[in-house]
Amino acid sequence: MGDYALLAALVALLVGLTVGKAWERYKLRDGRWIDRRKARESPHYILGLNFLVSNQIDLAIEELTRAARLTTEALEIDMVLGNLYREKGQVGRAINIHQGLLQRPKLTKLENAYVLLCLGLDFRRGGFVDRALEAFTEVLRLDPRNRYALVNLEKLHEEQHQWLEAYHIRQELAKGSEPEEQPRNQQILAFLETQLGEVARKQGDAPAARAKFESAIDLDPKTAPAYLSLGDMKLADGQVEQAIANWERLIEVSPERAYLAFDRLEAAYPRSGRPDHFPDLCRQIIQAKPNDWRARLALARYLAGRADPAGAFELLLEALVSNPHGLSVHEEIWKTLLRLDLERTLVERYMDLTGRSVFYLDPHVCLRCRYRSTELLWQCPQCHEWNTFVEERITPAKDTEETQN
Ligand SMILES: [Zn+2]
Repeated sequence: MGDYALLAALVALLVGLTVGKAWERYKLRDGRWIDRRKARESPHYILGLNFLVSNQIDLAIEELTRAARLTTEALEIDMVLGNLYREKGQVGRAINIHQGLLQRPKLTKLENAYVLLCLGLDFRRGGFVDRALEAFTEVLRLDPRNRYALVNLEKLHEEQHQWLEAYHIRQELAKGSEPEEQPRNQQILAFLETQLGEVARKQGDAPAARAKFESAIDLDPKTAPAYLSLGDMKLADGQVEQAIANWERLIEVSPERAYLAFDRLEAAYPRSGRPDHFPDLCRQIIQAKPNDWRARLALARYLAGRADPAGAFELLLEALVSNPHGLSVHEEIWKTLLRLDLERTLVERYMDLTGRSVFYLDPHVCLRCRYRSTELLWQCPQCHEWNTFVEERITPAKDTEETQN
């Protein structure tokens, strides 16, 4: 179970506690005091919470199940139990529990909304998109400002590439956000706007596409893909200067993403009568940001392609110091060394530098706390657990679900 899953369970628990408070008040007003505290004051409940916080999910389920048996009034405990089963991957069981809760008599509107929210999360996890959409929409009918429902609806629409629907939901979320969350909202809106631009571009509607990309930049001036696409459209129209202007603007507003425009600019400068401008640009970037290894790599490739492999090699060694784990740097170094007929002194300099800069030569990671080490350790120095280290390999995103469990 990942950290996210634990967080989701805790959030659900807090939501449950809030609902619980509302429920108690309701019951008091109703004049019928039903002691749901009986469940909360039981040792099983306290133990369950402790196991939950320490990420021991099976034990948490065991204790919370015992606590839930003490009364049928502690709705939130059952809600959390369902959520824990969902996070364990037992979606069917989670759906059963949450649907059972919906059958309980006298649910308040708010309780109803939260149980539906849990059910929506179950459906989403199980891949039942339509039923998830239905559940979250129903939550919003009962509780129009429910942020969890809005965020989940947004993600469902994004997964189906319904960018406009997602955009409207993000606008709704932005209305209820704190001022410090607004930049993030603007950023998300800008990315969604960029996606709408890409759709228009694929459909051949260039003016609409351009308008979307420009409005994305208005929303957040750091939206790199919008500059790239605007430039690509200009280039396709034969407007090389304007294409270059868009890509240079990207470098200005978002220097950390400058490299995305390198290949494009390298090809475009000669077409605008500035054949030597690309290396100048790289040198300017290196001067402004001394540890920019990507500009060094780009300049090295440029020089190597123009009969200066020795100059390229020096740049690549500098790039290696800034990013010793970057395979693309090592690959370029070997290509350059081959061009230089594997000159022994250069190979030795490379090996010497690698030995001194590569921090994790054989990376291992603690499965429990993600602590990294350069060798296999039997006990983790951070979380003190035994035998939790595995060799760290980068796996494709699709496999992460399996490796986490
Ligand atoms: Zn650890």
